[in-house]
Amino acid sequence: APVPLIAGNWKMHGLAASLDEARAIAAGCTAASPRVAICPPSVLIHRMAQALADTKVQVGGQDAHFDDFGAFTGDVSAEMLADAGARLVILGHSERRTGYRETDALVAKKVLAALRAGLEPIVCVGETLDERKAGRALEVVTGQVRGSLPAELAGKAFAVAYEPVWAIGTGLTPTTPEIEEMHRAIRATLNEMFGAHGAGVPILYGGSVKPNNAAEILKADEVGGALVGGASLKASDFLAIVQAA
Ligand code: 13P
Repeated sequence: APVPLIAGNWKMHGLAASLDEARAIAAGCTAASPRVAICPPSVLIHRMAQALADTKVQVGGQDAHFDDFGAFTGDVSAEMLADAGARLVILGHSERRTGYRETDALVAKKVLAALRAGLEPIVCVGETLDERKAGRALEVVTGQVRGSLPAELAGKAFAVAYEPVWAIGTGLTPTTPEIEEMHRAIRATLNEMFGAHGAGVPILYGGSVKPNNAAEILKADEVGGALVGGASLKASDFLAIVQAA
C-alpha cells in the first residue's frame, strides 16, 4: 500500500502567528512519518511554504478557480497556488459544494485546472445525513466520484477524501464497518474508471478525526490517510494523528 497521507485543512483559521504551529508540526515529523500536508488559507501559503521549505511537510490550497487567469474578482487560480509554494489542493469540499453551490461538473473543471498547474488534487465527496438515512449514501458518493474525477486524472497523482457531511465538525463519525463499506465502494469505482492506476489512489477519510479515534480509522480497510479539520490546528493534536498512521 502507498504511504498514508495525513492532510490538515485549516479552513478559515490562521494568521501569521499560526506559522509557529506549522513549524511545530514539521518539527514533530520524522523520516518514518507518513506524508503530511497542511492546507492553510491561501494568504498564508507563501509564508508557510517558506517556513516549511526544508521539512517533509507539504503545503496545499483549499480551493482553486477552474480557469487559469482572468476577470474573476476575489478568486485564486491553481497556478497562483503553485506559484506561492503549494503542492496539493483540496477541491470539492462539502463546505464549497453547499456554501457555493459547487457541482460535480465544476469540481471536475477545477481538477483539470489543478493538473495544468502541476498540483495534486484531493477531491472531496460525501453524503448528507438525509441521504444516509434514505439508504442512498453509497449511490450518492460513488456518483460524486464519477462526476468529479475527469478521465485526464489517469496516471496522475491524486487523492479522494470521503467526508460524510454529517461527520464534519460534529464529533460524530461513521462506524468502522460503515467507513470500510464506503471506501471499498469508492475503490471499486476508481478501479472501474482508472484500471490498475485506480488501485493506488489514496482514499482519505475526513470528518471528526481526532487523536482518540485516528488509530482505529486509519487501520480500516481501504483507508489511505485522513483529511483533518479542527484537530489539525493544534500541533499536539495533529501530530498525535500523524503518529497514529
Ligand atoms: P473536522 O475534522 O473539523 O470534522 O473537519 C473535517 C473536514 O472538513 C476536513 O476537510
